[in-house]
Amino acid sequence: MNKEIFHTFLVKYAEIGIKGKNRYMFEDALISQIQRGLSHVEGKFSVHKTPGRIYVDCSEGFDYDEVIDRLKHIFGIIWICPVLCLEDKGFEELGKDIVKYFDDVYPDKNLTFKVNARRNRKNYPMDSMEINAALGEAILDAYPELKVDVHKPQVMLEVEIRDLIYVYSRMIPGPGGMPVGTGGRGMLLLSGGIDSPVAGWMVSKRGVSIDAVYFHAPPYTSERAKQKVIDLAKIIAEYTGPIRLHIVNFTDIQLAIYEKCPHDELTIIMRRYMMRIAEHYAHECGAIGLITGESIGQVASQTMASMVSTNEVCELPVYRPLVAFDKQDIVTIAEKIGTYETSILPFEDCCTIFVAKHPVTKPNVNIIRKHEHHLDDVIEDLLNKVYETTEVVEVK
Ligand code: ATP
Ligand code: MG
Repeated sequence: MNKEIFHTFLVKYAEIGIKGKNRYMFEDALISQIQRGLSHVEGKFSVHKTPGRIYVDCSEGFDYDEVIDRLKHIFGIIWICPVLCLEDKGFEELGKDIVKYFDDVYPDKNLTFKVNARRNRKNYPMDSMEINAALGEAILDAYPELKVDVHKPQVMLEVEIRDLIYVYSRMIPGPGGMPVGTGGRGMLLLSGGIDSPVAGWMVSKRGVSIDAVYFHAPPYTSERAKQKVIDLAKIIAEYTGPIRLHIVNFTDIQLAIYEKCPHDELTIIMRRYMMRIAEHYAHECGAIGLITGESIGQVASQTMASMVSTNEVCELPVYRPLVAFDKQDIVTIAEKIGTYETSILPFEDCCTIFVAKHPVTKPNVNIIRKHEHHLDDVIEDLLNKVYETTEVVEVK
């Protein structure tokens, strides 16, 4: 294929199309997300909209594949179509341009096709049916080995007559979802595992901006474990936009729980403090929900009963997009979005260091609360120390 004929991409969006009066807000959010995504790509890009459509015009010398790769990271886009933009120089010229387009894009002509013309400009001298027939004929004249198939063509050649004439046939899938920035802000509890990056990605796909908290436990967890979480945040930030990653030193709280609370309740009590601290930073960042990678029954701390205990310590809703996902389904998404390879690097996690041999799977909230009181003398100081020592990394 000759990629050099393309200087413009047509961006198609789905759900934004049905947002009624607020539609322009969603379109503008999508435009600014596209601009953000392309800001790291060499070249100049102009992103603009016409009713129902967004176009990205690219300057000379841009990298076609890189632009498509960037656009594949922008939530809200369902199709990316490299498009030929032609001035209206009469039908004969259009026919010639289309014949050349076909050759540039499909050097191998062993194909079936159909022309699908649309006239948004009603003063065009031919109607859609006439355009379809005449262009189909011009293409067949030039390449007799092609075949027309009006039901299931391999190539659907779209010809849209607007102020310019837009010709496209390749449709590259985008990630779908809603543009980031249209759905509020969430605070993701981001560990170095497989699940939480996927959970953050999924919620952000619905238009939610993301900040994150990571709990580490030096010297029990290493700098490399911390770097791994920063790397994961970087990968999802390509989709979600900038993430303020709060790196919380959790060691002293974990040690205090270990010392003062029953060992079979360690994980639950630890998770309750994670939620409280995450909620503290959510309030600071203007986040109105917490996000975790929990899935029912995956481990003892993720039974429904355990989630009752972790939920009750925070007021904000806790979003658990993976709640009903099997591990393999989560892995499939992690591979697709590019986090899997990093997630499986073998560094220790703070949760795995102080685990009990037989953790409770049906914690009783009243008993957990009672045992948590064993921390009353120390916890305020420990939390204050956490808030003083948290490091915030801006991940872009
Ligand atoms: P993940 O693959 O996301 O690490 P997991 O299967 O290891 O999940 P848990 O360790 O029980 O499960 O953690 C459940 C959820 O709690 C995680 O998905 C994450 O949202 C949060 N979490 C766990 N450990 C941490 C941590 N060290 N820092 C921040 N969040 C954490
Ligand atoms: Mg984990």
